[in-house]
Amino acid sequence: MSRSVLVTGGNRGIGLAIARAFAAQGDKVAVTHRGSGAPEGLLGVKCDVTSSAEVDAAFAEVEAAHGPVEVVVANAGITDDTLLLRMTDDQFSRVLDANLTGAFRVAQRASKGMLRKRYGRIVFISSVVGHLGGAGQVNYAASKAGLVGVARSIARELGTRNITANVVAPGFITTDMTDALPEDRKKQILAQVPSGRYGTTDEIAAAVTFLASDAAAYITGAVLPVDGGLGMGH
Ligand code: NDP
Repeated sequence: MSRSVLVTGGNRGIGLAIARAFAAQGDKVAVTHRGSGAPEGLLGVKCDVTSSAEVDAAFAEVEAAHGPVEVVVANAGITDDTLLLRMTDDQFSRVLDANLTGAFRVAQRASKGMLRKRYGRIVFISSVVGHLGGAGQVNYAASKAGLVGVARSIARELGTRNITANVVAPGFITTDMTDALPEDRKKQILAQVPSGRYGTTDEIAAAVTFLASDAAAYITGAVLPVDGGLGMGH
């Protein structure tokens, strides 16, 4: 079965690994990008998830090329870290708009076709920080915790239509986002990870393709941590 899959922010990092994993199993995969173009072998659609109009246009483009989106992965995300006292309204809202409202826009648009098809797999990429919090990450942690509420509400609304909504909560994964962290912070993080290493983008992709598979048809509203044990107990 070759499904129509859309991964937001699938042009690089975790999103790209997810897109490639779906493509490797024979699905028709599209990724959103904000101007970088699409990686080889994937359909690229230009889309900033902070714009409902761009989200709508991106879906229309994917639908025309691959048919209605059956699997959507809301992966696009940003950080803009600073301590609480220094954080501006704009810094808080900007991160929420991209990570949380953006995921809502994408899931809402995807659900239209999924309801018609009576089939759908929605996966949100959250973070261990959504559960543990992070110093300097009030905005990011709020956005990532919010995804759990979004997914669980969708699971309740759409469960009887054969549509699942789940969350993958990565720990610290080697990508541009974590490369940007200061060296001492990286060491600090690593000391707390039971597995004693960073995760790989492929390890996140494996969890996402599983949740989108037939084998996971009875899993919905779940939060699957892929974090080397960092978030245990939450
Ligand atoms: P990267 O910074 O490597 O990539 C982020 C991706 O999101 C890029 O494709 C970027 O597009 C896209 N993006 C950002 N803002 C928007 C927007 N407004 N509209 C559309 N696309 C956007 O991040 P990662 O691959 O590391 O992270 C992917 C997801 O995983 C994020 O949601 C992140 O929060 C989460 N995560 C990452 C962890 C890690 O350790 N790396 C840990 C836990 C969670 P562009 O190329 O145009 O900038």
